[in-house]
Amino acid sequence: MVIRSPWPGRDVGRLDVIVGAMFSGKSTALIRTYEMIVEQVTTLPVTLRPYPKTAVRAYKHARDGRYGGDGAIVSHDGKTLPALPITEVCRLYDDVLQNDVRVVLLDEAQFFIEKSSSGMYQLVETVYRMIHENRHIVIAGLDQDFRGLPFGPMGELLAMADVKNVLTAQCAVCGAPATQTQRLIGGKPAYFDDPLIVVGSSDTYEPRCRRCHEVVPAREQKTPASF
Ligand SMILES: [Zn+2]
Repeated sequence: MVIRSPWPGRDVGRLDVIVGAMFSGKSTALIRTYEMIVEQVTTLPVTLRPYPKTAVRAYKHARDGRYGGDGAIVSHDGKTLPALPITEVCRLYDDVLQNDVRVVLLDEAQFFIEKSSSGMYQLVETVYRMIHENRHIVIAGLDQDFRGLPFGPMGELLAMADVKNVLTAQCAVCGAPATQTQRLIGGKPAYFDDPLIVVGSSDTYEPRCRRCHEVVPAREQKTPASF
């Protein structure tokens, strides 16, 4: 009889996904998860630890430079967690192998939109591989873009997850639970066909409920329902 260790990442892989609108507390939840896992590991005598503390490692997409936290995951309430900023999935996987990382925490995962030659998101393929290498993966990201459509690989990662944490924020207009991210350009709602990701833009974002969420119809197509 095989007795499975209760320690995540020890002998069975798993995927936890944390999603929600902006300001819903995703980074805070990711940092809290890191602290809980490290505390679980470090309270054990060294000889009984399933892996060292250094095998729990955080990463984030390098595009997220908010609050000047280039080398850290920074939550809206000011907590920080050192994280390796990366832009390519292969760089993440190389680091995981080099350091034998057993618990992989990744923030702003929606930005990993690159696909492989098979047509799958590279991140989805790599996460699948890491789960089957018995690693514990914890991913946080925006589930929807500013239009309310699935953001990059997040929908597929949610479908694969063992544990799905869906967080809500508070609507900036009416105070109701917010599941949407409102994009404002110059203080006005963005058009449906505005580019999804604009590096260095001065857009602002706020959480909103469905009722208050505004997307201006595409300039040419006249309707947000047109693709
Ligand atoms: Zn509202």
